[in-house]
Amino acid sequence: SHEVFEHAFEVIQKIEEAGGEAYIVGGAVRDYLSGRPVNDIDIATSETPERIQEIFDKVIPVGIEHGTVIVRHRSVSYEVTTYRVEEGYEDYRHPDEVTFVQDITLDLARRDFTTNAIAMSRDGRLIDPYHGHDAIRNKKIEAVGEPSERFHEDPLRMMRAVRFASQLSFKIEKRTEEALNHLSPLLQHISIERIAVEMEKIFGGSDYALGLQLLQSTGLKNHLPILKDLDINRNVPYSPLFGWHEIIAFYAVQYPQLSPENFMKSWKLSKDTKKKTVQLLHAYKIYERKKNVTSWLVYQLDNELFPSFSRLFSALDEGDMNLDKALTDMKDQLPIQNKKELSFQARDLLQLYTHLPKGPWISEWMDTIEHCVVTGEIENDYEKIKEWVRGWNPPASN
Ligand code: ATP
Ligand code: MG
Repeated sequence: SHEVFEHAFEVIQKIEEAGGEAYIVGGAVRDYLSGRPVNDIDIATSETPERIQEIFDKVIPVGIEHGTVIVRHRSVSYEVTTYRVEEGYEDYRHPDEVTFVQDITLDLARRDFTTNAIAMSRDGRLIDPYHGHDAIRNKKIEAVGEPSERFHEDPLRMMRAVRFASQLSFKIEKRTEEALNHLSPLLQHISIERIAVEMEKIFGGSDYALGLQLLQSTGLKNHLPILKDLDINRNVPYSPLFGWHEIIAFYAVQYPQLSPENFMKSWKLSKDTKKKTVQLLHAYKIYERKKNVTSWLVYQLDNELFPSFSRLFSALDEGDMNLDKALTDMKDQLPIQNKKELSFQARDLLQLYTHLPKGPWISEWMDTIEHCVVTGEIENDYEKIKEWVRGWNPPASN
């Protein structure tokens, strides 16, 4: 049965009742037919974006000029795109012209791979002019039409081919792979941001080792900043990595001369990635120093990054994936969760040493107190910390 599509079929029904045509297309159909979990559901329709806006109450116009709107139905978003063909691609980036058409098979023809060019009707019937269902059964990634033409039109498709191979554990069909081998230099015309999206998915795929090997054999690797200088087929992770912060930390651990800052700069990664990478690497350095997951390490690491630390650990073959739970338990048992929970604060320190000028010694002493409370060297108790600190040598004034 098509249970996962039940509500999407209601959207289609509404378009049909208004006199139009609509199908589920792309990744959702592919994932459904290959027995994988279905994520976003995309719908292709004969109707214009304007018509779709008339038919539904809740429509978000996200890309009207390309024919795409988002329809909200039962609190779920569906990308609804008018059948279209694309022409031009002069600048390797955007098709020069998008033309709306009335025939679903024309829309399927513009799609990248046969596995992604299948449409499903409301009654579960497949429109599959390129035999994508067979490609799924045979575990093959093959271009729709002439592979080299399709890669010339949009060289990002070469990265997508490798990405799907990695995610689905499919082989790339011979003619498609030959085109990849010849045309990999075209990748230089593609923005690093678009490449980064596919690259992240290659590392997260269940067959990421196949993905990395394909990057090498096709020559695509030569056009990937930083990674082109690493031996990605020798340093294969032991398990998939989710997100750039995990990928960068993985290589930074193995290549001490590698600069994570340069890595992030050349891939134009976000501030958020940067923050996470720095934290993850900091935690890993503590682990390397102590050869142990210490309370200080757990304290310093945001809970949000526990899964990343576990995966980095597994990818480096340092331990198994269940570290996540152990980290959570360890954190729960720490005497304090953050600085604010210290029962002895900077103001208490100043009260003890009213005669001393303010200076860096305050934060240095507070850091020591924090560290010792976290590691259990001193109890988180106001009186006990006060007595302890009283015995310290006052800082030399400058
Ligand atoms: P995912 O599960 O990662 O979202 P997907 O197949 O849905 O995979 P999307 O990038 O969301 O991939 O694209 C949706 C569909 O649009 C694809 O299945 C494909 O039919 C088409 N498509 C996307 N990018 C391209 C491209 N660069 N060239 C041709 N067709 C494309
Ligand atoms: Mg998708």
